[in-house]
Amino acid sequence: MTEKILAMANPLLCTVFALSFIALWRRDTSTSWPVMIAFAYAAQAVGFFIFHFTGNPNGVVAITAMHLFYSAGASAMMWGICARNGQRAPLALFATIAVISLALMVAATIGANYNARLYAANAAYGLILALGCQVAASKTEKEFLDKVILWLIAIGAFQFFVRPITAIMVEGAMTAEEYRATPFYAVMVVWLAVSSLLIALSLMIAALTDQMRSVREASKLDSLTRLRTRRAFESDVMEAFEKAKADHVPLSLVVADIDHFKGVNDVYGHQVGDRAIAEFGNVLSGMIRHADVAGRIGGEEFCILAWNCDEEKAHAMAERIRRRFAETAIPGMPAGNRLTASFGVAGRRSGEGYGKLFARADAELYRAKHGGRNRVCHEEMPGVVVAEFKPKGVRKGAAA
Ligand code: GH3
Ligand code: MG
Ligand code: MG
Repeated sequence: MTEKILAMANPLLCTVFALSFIALWRRDTSTSWPVMIAFAYAAQAVGFFIFHFTGNPNGVVAITAMHLFYSAGASAMMWGICARNGQRAPLALFATIAVISLALMVAATIGANYNARLYAANAAYGLILALGCQVAASKTEKEFLDKVILWLIAIGAFQFFVRPITAIMVEGAMTAEEYRATPFYAVMVVWLAVSSLLIALSLMIAALTDQMRSVREASKLDSLTRLRTRRAFESDVMEAFEKAKADHVPLSLVVADIDHFKGVNDVYGHQVGDRAIAEFGNVLSGMIRHADVAGRIGGEEFCILAWNCDEEKAHAMAERIRRRFAETAIPGMPAGNRLTASFGVAGRRSGEGYGKLFARADAELYRAKHGGRNRVCHEEMPGVVVAEFKPKGVRKGAAA
């Protein structure tokens, strides 16, 4: 009876883990890797149940079922860990390993060679974990928790190779009962339980920290444009300034403001105004580089910090954005009607802080507005005038 209760501990623990990962996934369904981990634990639980409660654990049917569940469990575990890193686990290779080892295990069972069967099964699980671990280890920026998970899995893979060899080596010298009474066996059982508990806990912490991070990241983004909010933009700008100072990298700031926007709200309504803001955000996101930072700093005012970019290049970028926006259709506005925006650009001078740089770029925006709008201005090119594009249907402060 006690033995049966103890035997239940493993599958029950795996079931609890499977349910926990489903619960974690339900908190944030935008990422599916916790479901894969839940599946891994559920498959392990079924495998353990079969092992402990089947009438004939040495029969071909039980062996096949157990092996398939354990292999699926190991594969899903690595699938989930790789998916968390945005990597693809070699699932076809895992399936091939599972099928080949199954063939070997069935042949060994029929031939009553239990050592060969033990080797084939453990080698399969060890290989799946080791190969998955190799993929996951190729992630470039690993955090402490990533490393902990990888080490635990690597040790898990290693024990699958060492355990059967050790068991078989001692087998000649002692009976299975004597072997189970050795301190080595006791240490191994405890270690196995502790390591699988540690893996489950580290993955749960990983799921929770990922979720907290994505909530934090989402709070930095403006809901209309998915660009940074003013606060997040300014905090990223401060970081970029520090880095630029250390690396001697040029920075430029572009300030943009949609022209005659009050008229859009007045003529087409606030919702269409919102769509126009969202469209401007889309244009910005599609036209800046990965290292640039873009934010919505006010109602229809935007800022771009252009990384490793002098004033002239920033001007050219703003000019591309200006042209693209002037061609962009706004849902809700009559076909053919377009909006425009004005831009001010300033390159960071040596020793200059964000406040001063912003003031200079904003002064250029003011100049662009007063020069007729729909244009880009920067200090070094005061004479450059872009022919004003008059948006159809919207005039300043008046209904079209
Ligand atoms: P200018 O060409 O000089 O920039 O003229 P403008 O009409 O765009 O003037 P201004 O920048 O002062 O007007 C901004 C307007 O944007 C005022 C406000 O009603 C509107 N606005 C601010 N935030 C939002 C928003 O989130 N959604 C919408 N639809 N309108 C907004
Ligand atoms: Mg405006
Ligand atoms: Mg404005």
